[in-house]
Amino acid sequence: MKILVINSGSSSLKFQVIDMSTEQVLARGVCERIGIDGVFTYRTGSGISIKEQVPMENHTQAVHVLLDTLADPEKGVIKDFSEIDVIGHRLVHGGEKFTGSVVITDEVIQAMTECNDLAPLHNPANLIGVDACRQLMPDTLMVGVFDTAFNQTMEPKAFLYGLPYQYYEKYKIRRYGFHGISHKYVSQRAAEFMGQDPRRVKTIVCHLGNGASICAVKYGKVVDNSMGFTPLEGLVMGTRSGDVDPGALEFLAKKENLDLSQIMQILNKESGVLGISKNLSSDFRELKDAEIKYNDKAAMAREIFAYKVAKYVGSYAAAMNGVDNIVFTAGVGENDSDIREEICSYLEFLGIHLDDVKNRESAEAVKISDGMSKVNVLVIRTNEELEIARQAAEVAGQLQAQGQEH
Ligand code: ADP
Repeated sequence: MKILVINSGSSSLKFQVIDMSTEQVLARGVCERIGIDGVFTYRTGSGISIKEQVPMENHTQAVHVLLDTLADPEKGVIKDFSEIDVIGHRLVHGGEKFTGSVVITDEVIQAMTECNDLAPLHNPANLIGVDACRQLMPDTLMVGVFDTAFNQTMEPKAFLYGLPYQYYEKYKIRRYGFHGISHKYVSQRAAEFMGQDPRRVKTIVCHLGNGASICAVKYGKVVDNSMGFTPLEGLVMGTRSGDVDPGALEFLAKKENLDLSQIMQILNKESGVLGISKNLSSDFRELKDAEIKYNDKAAMAREIFAYKVAKYVGSYAAAMNGVDNIVFTAGVGENDSDIREEICSYLEFLGIHLDDVKNRESAEAVKISDGMSKVNVLVIRTNEELEIARQAAEVAGQLQAQGQEH
């Protein structure tokens, strides 16, 4: 079975073709600057690599470009479109309606459109990608995989805010949690790597990238997630503030005469390690380079980031009454051994001991705690596309089984 994975944003569309018999990536790429000047990047497993400007006025044209390339006799990886069995779409927000992956039908699109105001930046962009694929490949099975679905096992004690209950009833204001596709993949891969049954372990996944979140997964089910109603809550991130006292925002708005949209712009785009470092950078590599050169703001930004991660890990160990695996993933989590070391230095009370040599290794999966450690600390490379493809294949398999039953 060959699966095309699509991750559609407002002006970009990432894609991969995965052969599920081997889980190998046959081709991957991204259409960027859609509606502007159009840049197409493409790479195959056999070593073909392209980066060129291709006009793409809209997402349908972008999908056209990628499909034509995939089926090209010289550059392609399939003979024709019929070789694509399923298209798996990454969908950001499924609200409370979607607790798992679904076959995309008109009803699902309607239900997702109803969730649009929960994720105004992401959901409409996802749906444009779905629409483009449906236009060009109307007979191909489409499966939607939601970033919120894995987190839907949270109990009310974790997902309700201390707000009047009527706002949950009226508007579904609650914690949804994000990065669910990554948290699911990484928590399961960690258990597999350690030879554990995922239904018997307590895992804390630290997804530390530009956007960062922590997730507590107990016996295969999410107990808590640091992101909330939107992906703004929780950790200090690249440009996002994470948790802030709302009272401070009212104070700031009055002092600087700002309206709500200006406050949101500050919280989403001008805060995090970028804001703390006085606009030095939102990029952790650049901050690390600056810290080495004794830039005290860069050092402070990284210190605050690590401290906040450790606080969440500690609280999630309490939420699960223990922890077996702590897993680092995403750009910073996978690559920054210094940050991992600093975070773990706060966690010695849990009986954590790092193996300094292992902590500097780079691999798809590595255990970085030593034999004395009471908790396994791991680094696992996240693979959201593979997780989407697996879930899409599972839905397709279930459909096939149902078809055979009838
Ligand atoms: P997102 O998908 O949220 O955009 P990523 O998971 O790609 O983010 O992570 C991006 C972050 O990872 C950037 O801040 C980048 O500096 C950081 N990063 C990548 N490689 C390294 C590295 N070798 N050392 C430290 N940080 C790194």
